[in-house]
Amino acid sequence: MKLEKYSIGVGDRFGRQGLAQLAAVQKAQQQGLAIVPVWNKSHREHTIIHTTPAAVRAEADAAVREGGWQGRYYVDADHIGLHNVDVFLESSDFFTLDIAAAIGQTAAPEAIRQYVDHLDVYLGPLRIDGVAETFEVTRGRIEWIASKYLEAIRQAGCIYRHIEAAKGPGNFVTEVSMDESHEPQTPLEMFFILAALAAEGVPVQTIAPKFTGRFNKGVDYVGDTAQFAKEFEEDLAVIRRAAQEFDLPENLKLSVHSGSDKFSIYAPMRQAIRKYDTGLHIKTAGTTWLAELGGLAVSGGEGLQIARQVYRRARGRFDELCGPYATVIDIDRDQLPSPDEVETWTGGEFADTLRHDPACENYNPHFRQLLHVAYKIAAQMGSRYLDALEAHRQVIASEVTENLYERHIKPVFLD
Ligand SMILES: [Zn+2]
Repeated sequence: MKLEKYSIGVGDRFGRQGLAQLAAVQKAQQQGLAIVPVWNKSHREHTIIHTTPAAVRAEADAAVREGGWQGRYYVDADHIGLHNVDVFLESSDFFTLDIAAAIGQTAAPEAIRQYVDHLDVYLGPLRIDGVAETFEVTRGRIEWIASKYLEAIRQAGCIYRHIEAAKGPGNFVTEVSMDESHEPQTPLEMFFILAALAAEGVPVQTIAPKFTGRFNKGVDYVGDTAQFAKEFEEDLAVIRRAAQEFDLPENLKLSVHSGSDKFSIYAPMRQAIRKYDTGLHIKTAGTTWLAELGGLAVSGGEGLQIARQVYRRARGRFDELCGPYATVIDIDRDQLPSPDEVETWTGGEFADTLRHDPACENYNPHFRQLLHVAYKIAAQMGSRYLDALEAHRQVIASEVTENLYERHIKPVFLD
């Protein structure tokens, strides 16, 4: 199973927007862009919303059937480890092995020694086309990278073989993610990480590094865009070289997590993948839930009541909701409107404040980030929330499709 060059991770908290998400991919296809959808959901999300991996598979299959999609599509077990992969085995055909937590764990000295011996052909100056710096590779430097990453990669190998034993080799796509680690990976680290993954026998097709800057949930990139562009290009250069050098799939590509709404880096990303004629996977999970909430608000009536209530309760449970996302949100409480004020807003005002349109003066990224992490409240509303999605299906679907196509697929892949 070989993942296509361009793919988009479409998360869906409540599993009701599969068709609307697929419609965005189909619009892109009509514009001549070959891109495939990947429905992804993490164990963390399933736990908070009380959904199951089987439901994601059912949603994807139903969307594809109803939407008449002829192309390939995937269901991604996002951010899994050995302790929680089993519930995903049957319904997923794409697995994101999360090694971030194991980075820095100590590898066996013997494993480190073998690894350095295996790579001693790279000792001395190492030039990688597309990377300005010439690296001076020493045993010490490889040992240092090994002591940081080798144990994490050994664990990725264990998870991979566990999945392979259940599904059979070649029957699923493997991604390795490090995006939730503390520091960005340097190009040289990336090169030797890929070497280790190849040696471990993990046929990684997409790799998600941690990039420089902040990838806050649902809002634009915060950081030095020129530095990001440089790192992104260097990663592409390293991946190209590693795919030639090591036993790795030829379609190996970058995966960008928390990739939704990062408008200021979409142009550099698009230019870089064109320059290198390479693929890209971009995960956009939470943006669909926010489009859904905006759709409810503009629907008025009960839909607007629900949207206002989600906000009021989110204010009351600020610490509980923000806690698990502390490292990926930046909310200034003073910039949040009071729930009483929001109670007086029209649906249009609510949606304008929420919708990520930097040109709109009502847009408030603090309001948006708080609602991004507030999906638990909607989940607790149960059938009241789900019935409203059903009642206002068309308005919501058009918000979801437009958001994914106009604000994400188009600027990343087409413009
Ligand atoms: Zn991630």
